Amino acid sequence: MSLVSLKEMLNDARKNKYAVGAFDVSNLEMALAVVEVAEKKKSPVILMGLCLDLQGDRLDYWLYSLRKIAQKASVPVCIHLDHATDVEFIKKCVNAGFSSVMIDGSMLPLKENIEKTKTVVDYAHKFDVSVEAELGHVGDGIVGSSEIGAPKKDTFDKPEDSLTRPDELKQFIDATGVDCIAVAVGTAHGIYVYKPKIHFDRLKTLNEISVVPMVMHGGSGTPDALIKESVQNGICKLNIFSEMLTAFYGTMKDELNAAEHLAIWPHNANEKPLIALKKVVAAKIDLVGSTNKA
Ligand SMILES: [Zn+2]
Repeated sequence: MSLVSLKEMLNDARKNKYAVGAFDVSNLEMALAVVEVAEKKKSPVILMGLCLDLQGDRLDYWLYSLRKIAQKASVPVCIHLDHATDVEFIKKCVNAGFSSVMIDGSMLPLKENIEKTKTVVDYAHKFDVSVEAELGHVGDGIVGSSEIGAPKKDTFDKPEDSLTRPDELKQFIDATGVDCIAVAVGTAHGIYVYKPKIHFDRLKTLNEISVVPMVMHGGSGTPDALIKESVQNGICKLNIFSEMLTAFYGTMKDELNAAEHLAIWPHNANEKPLIALKKVVAAKIDLVGSTNKA
């Protein structure tokens, strides 16, 4: 089974009205845990790499491991670069073996976002690598640090004008040739301070316009009912990171607090935290409806 293209994976999801879980993985234990759950669930899965984890030679080391894991997996696996803004770095990641990449030009004016995304699409497609872009800005509604290093905020307030605009969507997809598109409809990255409000009217309109699968970022902490409804309205890829970390480190903290000494073999220290992380992954796979879709 193994490594497949994001385009192929998400087009099937779109056709059959489910979404695929996309999980950021920063180390080998996380990657193996996610794939183990996907195999148990007989679900396709997307492993995502974060730019900070891929600096220097780590890019090659990481890609080598992830590709091996994907090749051995009994379910379809995508290896996806999450949130990258530097075109030269994205090209390096394409060359190194990612099966898909995200160019995040959501902070740029529309024209520049289109130009930058098109540059990435033109390059990546030469190597059959799929491209995700972002239109509108998902941003951070969090307390704490974010995956893109945005400053701390203590209130969550998603202004209407940061949502994806229907009048820009078709133009953006046509002009860039992108394979899937992350839309801003009310979720945010990180840990929510307040419950998110999903603008379903907007999502429905975008779904009518979009000719490519849509992606939801900020899946962590978004109530299950809202995610289900989002999937029914065209979301085909759901990004998850913070909830995995919270489960992992929350369990780790309890374990370490209860330990008599801290000279603990990492294998043992990770055991229960990884079980907690896997529970999150399993629940999200069931939630987005990709169980038994491999
Ligand atoms: Zn994101």
